[in-house]
Amino acid sequence: MGFIQISELHKTYRLGESQVHALRGVSLAVKEGERLFLGGPSGSGKSTLLHIIGCLDRFDQGRIVVAGRDVASADDRALADFRARHIGFVFQNFNLLPVLTVFENVEYPLLLNGEKSAKKRRGRVEGMLEAVGLLGHAKHYPNELSGGQRQRVAIARALVHHPRLLIADEPTANLDSTTGEAIIQLMLDLSREQGSTVIICTHNRELLENAERCILLRDGKIENDATAGTQGRTA
Ligand code: ADP
Ligand code: ADP
Repeated sequence: MGFIQISELHKTYRLGESQVHALRGVSLAVKEGERLFLGGPSGSGKSTLLHIIGCLDRFDQGRIVVAGRDVASADDRALADFRARHIGFVFQNFNLLPVLTVFENVEYPLLLNGEKSAKKRRGRVEGMLEAVGLLGHAKHYPNELSGGQRQRVAIARALVHHPRLLIADEPTANLDSTTGEAIIQLMLDLSREQGSTVIICTHNRELLENAERCILLRDGKIENDATAGTQGRTA
């Protein structure tokens, strides 16, 4: 069984009378430690797929295994626990908590995971802040930081509990291109050190073209799944 194994996934949003068929039979296998970029036009289903893989959202039909677990059969509570333990998220708009300091934002996942030792939490948080180059900003609040700095805090928060899977939804959309490149590199470097699997959704052509593995969605289906150095398989 793969680390992530998805077969014939369907997801429909219902808005009153109307329906949007956001995913229309997506099948995909991802090995542990793989680093995958997900592209495709706006509305093609990228966020929906990421949210389902990240156990933030449910689906209608199909099968999905995440980190070796059949998440469809988990109830909401079990799913939330599973997500807190094994998955880290980085979002386009950073999603830091504005009333918490940088240190407290990064500490949050450890508290969610029940780490009771303040000393251990401090060690982990300081280690992550050092890794993203923001140890000196531990006492600052998010609104005192630049976009790139905020995203580095978000990366520290996403990885502080050593998740098996890192999911990033358009992480560079609100950054200039130089800052964005550095952010992607930081995510790839830190997750490699931890051995985490990474899925990054992006519109950035260069990233998609240079990806180790690139999956393109269109109209809720996989249009292309290409591993670097091989010819793309067209679905
Ligand atoms: P992408 O991330 O590729 O832009 P999305 O997964 O966000 O695509 O959206 C896929 C389709 O589902 C789009 O048509 C979008 O409008 C629709 N959609 C996404 N989220 C919702 C929602 N919460 N309610 C209704 N429709 C949605
Ligand atoms: P989009 O992909 O549409 O630009 P975001 O990536 O910012 O939007 O957020 C997508 C969804 O995930 C939102 O509906 C939000 O409620 C949810 N979300 C964001 N952050 C978290 C989080 N840390 N934990 C759980 N759900 C979250």
